[in-house]
Amino acid sequence: MRGRIVRGIAGFYYVQTGSRIYECKAKGIFRKDKKKPLPGDYVEIDILDEVSLTANISAILPRTNELIRPAVANVDLALVIMAAASPAPNLNLLDRFLVTMEQQRVNCCVCFNKQDLVDEQTKDRLRESYRNTGYPVLFTSARQEEGLLELRKVLSGRTTTVAGPSGVGKSSLINCLQSHTSMETGEISSKIERGKHTTRHSELICVSEGTYIVDTPGFSSIELYGMEKEELQDYFPDFAPWEPECRFAGCAHVKERDCGVKRALERGEISASRYENYCQLYEELKGHRKY
Ligand code: GDP
Ligand code: ZN
Repeated sequence: MRGRIVRGIAGFYYVQTGSRIYECKAKGIFRKDKKKPLPGDYVEIDILDEVSLTANISAILPRTNELIRPAVANVDLALVIMAAASPAPNLNLLDRFLVTMEQQRVNCCVCFNKQDLVDEQTKDRLRESYRNTGYPVLFTSARQEEGLLELRKVLSGRTTTVAGPSGVGKSSLINCLQSHTSMETGEISSKIERGKHTTRHSELICVSEGTYIVDTPGFSSIELYGMEKEELQDYFPDFAPWEPECRFAGCAHVKERDCGVKRALERGEISASRYENYCQLYEELKGHRKY
């Protein structure tokens, strides 16, 4: 039988097939496939017992991708959540997160929650910062249940890793998404106990058939791993159209003269916060030791 790993904890994997969740071991998989099962993996299982819902994972199906942070397989989209206010959005942290997702070649979407706390002008300013990135920007309010239809549309049929610092309303939003579908997925939700202890592990939550969100632990800082300063610009899609206009090949868009990116910044085609965050990350990577 085929299923999907929705959670892995202490050597056990919880594999969903239809409305059932089997508790599985992965005996012999590592020796055979030379890889460890990850949440998000599609797997073959051999049922051991239908009453206690236990099984053994016999094979891991090929992955479309495999994220390192968070460790999860077969992700279609990364949704990063910030509060529009309270706490004030940290665009530097947001851009860091987007960079790490671009590095792992995952499509991104930005969501500002708590839109009920800000006026239209503030929303426009936030929207403007990401206008030329190509990332969809959503505004939601978990409290007032606003923007949820749009959010559901973006998530529909995909597996989305959801991340954000704590306090932005991530759990509230996930609850909103779940409560709507709890009728269909009631059996599934009740099988997995969601407690405080689960927040250290990534876990797939099925919000409707074929639609999963990966709840990952909240973060307060993001390190860039294994990145050369020269590749950073590849992860700013809003810079790409202007790079051919730089005078020097390999222009870093920092101190160079006659730079297409800096001209685009002056014209307002690249937002000031995006450029500042790029420069800060660039300096940070310059300080990193190569390894
Ligand atoms: P998490 O740490 O990101 O999971 O955030 P929580 O879901 O625990 O929410 C943090 C706080 O923000 C709680 O007091 C929520 O009631 C509040 N909150 C969540 N969503 C909203 C929202 O859309 N608007 C407002 N005003 N408050 C919200
Ligand atoms: Zn340049």
